[in-house]
Amino acid sequence: MTHPVLAALGLNDSESGTYLGSGQWSQTRDAGVLEPINPTTGDVLGKVYASSQADYDTIVERAQAAYKVWRTTPAPRRGEAIRLCADALRKHKDALGSLVALEMGKSKPEGDGEVQEMIDIGDFAVGLSRQLYGLTMHSERPGHRMYEQWHPIGIVGVISAFNFPVAVWAWNSFIAAICGDITIWKPSPKTPLSAIASMKICNEALRAGGFPDIFYLFNDAGTELASGFVDDKRVPLISFTGSTKVGRIVGERVARRMGRSLLELGGNNAIIVDPSADLKLAIPAIVFGAVGTAGQRCTTTRRLFVHESIYADVLGKLVTAYKQVEKKIGDPTDPTNLMGPLNSSDGVQAYLDAVEKAKASGGKIETGGAAIEGKGNFVLPTIVTGLANDAEIVQHETFAPILYVMKYRDLDEAIHLQNDVPQGLSSAIFTQNLKAAEAFLSAAGSDCGIANVNIGTSGAEIGGAFGGEKETGGGRESGSDAWKAYMRRQTNTINYSDSLPLAQGIKFDL
Ligand code: NAD
Repeated sequence: MTHPVLAALGLNDSESGTYLGSGQWSQTRDAGVLEPINPTTGDVLGKVYASSQADYDTIVERAQAAYKVWRTTPAPRRGEAIRLCADALRKHKDALGSLVALEMGKSKPEGDGEVQEMIDIGDFAVGLSRQLYGLTMHSERPGHRMYEQWHPIGIVGVISAFNFPVAVWAWNSFIAAICGDITIWKPSPKTPLSAIASMKICNEALRAGGFPDIFYLFNDAGTELASGFVDDKRVPLISFTGSTKVGRIVGERVARRMGRSLLELGGNNAIIVDPSADLKLAIPAIVFGAVGTAGQRCTTTRRLFVHESIYADVLGKLVTAYKQVEKKIGDPTDPTNLMGPLNSSDGVQAYLDAVEKAKASGGKIETGGAAIEGKGNFVLPTIVTGLANDAEIVQHETFAPILYVMKYRDLDEAIHLQNDVPQGLSSAIFTQNLKAAEAFLSAAGSDCGIANVNIGTSGAEIGGAFGGEKETGGGRESGSDAWKAYMRRQTNTINYSDSLPLAQGIKFDL
């Protein structure tokens, strides 16, 4: 029987995973089947038929044709298309938020929040469609005008991770759309139903509004189609969100064909709590950062540096708060629960392996440290003390709710430790000391793409550019001027004089 959350969105328990455009979903049934699991029960939620090579080729050909129309559609008109998508998502927020909670396993408020993020980026994109500004420069030559303009880039390939099964697509595709690009999406095989539902909502809104097909979808039974996608010269930009391990392969392959990649990879995010910190703010921020989405956010708080003078107090308060969270672990579609399951049984195994490694390296489990018996992929949120920042397991992103708590003596040491990991995504300090806050934000401070004061590491707003340094991949998406990644810049010099002076005063007399 079709799960009621799927039925509420008009989905069946068997769906095509390929949107071919023109309102058509592929009839391919022999290219493999994806079976997303309900992480709360372990049951299969539905069947998704994977795409064939022929489906993929059809999509790319149709996307190329659509691009010819879309690139010359005025940008504010393109914004109107995204306004319709954002409005349609508003109508379906509750139902799509529930599906994200059901299929991914994040709590219902976080599932709804993810859909809200789609709506927010849609609104942002509508405004941006009238603000794709280039600069004008003063030419060094008389009677010349010089300026730059931004043109669409073509087809944008989006490969997304399971943990943000819908928002990451919207971040990319809504901005790409107002830039004049066409998006082809390859979602995570763990969350194909959320992807299909998002495509149906947005593509129906676009068709009703008389817009061309600007969004396409394929699902891969293995990694063959996705690898071909990464290598496909017809796709000038690949925006990849996922692990550093896969992102490294993607980045190298795209670079080999001189394509562009936008990489949003793993994080190993830390919070510093200094002696002046307001613990009324710090404790809930740490707990939400470490436990929210069961530790499966790229911005999850994984390391905590606490000044030695308040270490015992902070640790005690955290353990108490974790015991409260333990009482509210359960079905994520029940909005009263604070924490759902891990998305997969592999995730549970990675969590258990990390706990064992932490113990073997001399770590002490202050709370948690075990999977919860029974159905589903539930684990206890865990705090580990007694490990140094350079312990191998601390340096590694385990995609689970494990927080390593460490002591520090002075701020320079804390900043050094927080930076001393391969990743560089998100960071935060809790302090009421202006000098400490400014030092943390200075050029000699945090080396991350995101650095916060008195808020945690997770839960970014769409208005800023999102992404991180080092092994996080260097990409920036979402707000600010991240749109520039989806366009090509052209510098134009126009001579309206009667002579041909050369730049740098070069003489070339024929
Ligand atoms: P993953 O790397 O396993 O998979 C990501 C995507 O890559 C999936 O769609 C997968 O099917 C695809 N893929 C796998 N092999 C491929 C290949 N050879 N070629 C092309 N595509 C391939 O990641 P995941 O487990 O889904 O997600 C968790 C990871 O994503 C974590 O490391 C997390 O930190 C990271 N993440 C980062 C951000 C960010 O913005 N920085 C956001 C969300 C998640």
